[in-house]
Amino acid sequence: MANQKVRVRFAPSPTGGLHLGGVRTVLFNYLFAKKHGGDFVLRIEDTDQGRYVAGAEDYIMECLKWCGLNPDESPAVGGPFAPYRQSERKALYREYAERLVMQGHAYYAFDTPEELELNRREIPNFQYGHAYRDTLRNSLTLAQNEVDQLLKDHVPHVIRIKMPADESVHFEDMIRGHVSFDTNQSDDKVLLKADGMPTYHLAVVVDDYLMKITHAFRGEEWLPSAPVHLLLWEYLGWKAAMPQWAHLPLILKPDGHGKLSKRDGARLGFPVYAMSWFDEKTGEVTAGFRELGFLPEAFLNLLVMLGWNDGTDNEIFSLDELIMRFSIERINKAGAKFDYEKAKWFNAEWIKRLDVARLIGYVKPILEEKGLVVDDEDYLIKVIQLVKERCILLPDFYQQASYFFAGPAEYDLNAVKPKWTDAKTDFFKGFISMLQNIGSTIDPQDLEIRFKALADERGIKAGELMLPFRIMLVGGKFGPHVFDIAALLGQNETIIRIEQALLKFTS
Ligand code: GLU
Repeated sequence: MANQKVRVRFAPSPTGGLHLGGVRTVLFNYLFAKKHGGDFVLRIEDTDQGRYVAGAEDYIMECLKWCGLNPDESPAVGGPFAPYRQSERKALYREYAERLVMQGHAYYAFDTPEELELNRREIPNFQYGHAYRDTLRNSLTLAQNEVDQLLKDHVPHVIRIKMPADESVHFEDMIRGHVSFDTNQSDDKVLLKADGMPTYHLAVVVDDYLMKITHAFRGEEWLPSAPVHLLLWEYLGWKAAMPQWAHLPLILKPDGHGKLSKRDGARLGFPVYAMSWFDEKTGEVTAGFRELGFLPEAFLNLLVMLGWNDGTDNEIFSLDELIMRFSIERINKAGAKFDYEKAKWFNAEWIKRLDVARLIGYVKPILEEKGLVVDDEDYLIKVIQLVKERCILLPDFYQQASYFFAGPAEYDLNAVKPKWTDAKTDFFKGFISMLQNIGSTIDPQDLEIRFKALADERGIKAGELMLPFRIMLVGGKFGPHVFDIAALLGQNETIIRIEQALLKFTS
């Protein structure tokens, strides 16, 4: 194992949108692989035809692309262990299931769904396992010639693992340390289904082996499956090649009570999926971080902090920094509470830090979609620099920046009119004349000094004029320093806006 190339995999089942916990799983796998110069594999586990949802695989790939967590091998890019979609590997699993039957570690089961249903109804806590398997219709109870005949006649059947009774199986989890299980707790899981498809349990083990996976991070919810997998690794004679497991702690509801679910997001008004997901069956749209205006940098940053830290107070990390600093020792064992306010804080921090050239790519379409004409990129850069401190989510750029591209359509007149006086009108007329004489480039500090001096001269408190000035320029009580706004709008536009607003303020 020591000299082996690190290979990790993300193995989602394409059943719907990707929960943020799923992306965190990808991230931890990715960071570990990249830190050790290894490969990150995307394998689509689509053997459960009943749960398969069209579009979910494309969604997963787009999501990884959005996050910049690009697989080295996947159904899309191929690789030395292709195919990477389990449904396309169907033919290779039966051999392993049959090998297990030959060795006595698995058996054919011919019970019909109706028979099983009857047992479930009549026997409290019925499990297909060591307690009942001897009373059911399988190759352990039927005579060999009967079994042969049933197989020859293609009578529908499954192959089940024969879980040993009264044994303890254990392994060392990279996060949890020593973990052990009592085999009596697990039923005889189906390995190969009647349609010839493997179940998750068989496919995950066979593919992790064939694809030479060395380490696997996955959600804590898979821990109960681990004993079945461990036994399969052992029975198939591959134990020495078994990946090292890391079962990641759960992401919890904000109050810490239970796993964060899609429904919590809808109930509490925050996203739980990475990107929006449209459920064709129900017509329901589940909001995603991307669509709500999160930057992928922020999304990854907030995810990694759900269960990991670098041992300092530092909370902001780029993907490259994470690759350098990531360490399994600093992953918490306990679940991490999701806090949406904190998630937004990460986004605001990343908006402040992100290279303005990248921000343009997000902000320009937001403004253009609302019908604003944004044709001067240098001007847009200055606008972004000025307002980005005030934006938490990307759509906030519309409110914070639209007035740089179009004069206010409405004014907060309630904030001005009750205290309006003729002296204020005269002040602004005087201010216009002053603007006309100061040249086309406005220096914000110089403008502020002149504004205040003029106010002094007229005997009006500058403080009483600043808010009206702001409302003249932007329409409401928001935005950065008002003289910075005027300087960026420029001499002409500032004059026009004052003139137009005066008409409204005095009518
Ligand atoms: N197909 C499983 C899932 O949907 C993979 C679990 C694992 O990583 O073993 O998450």
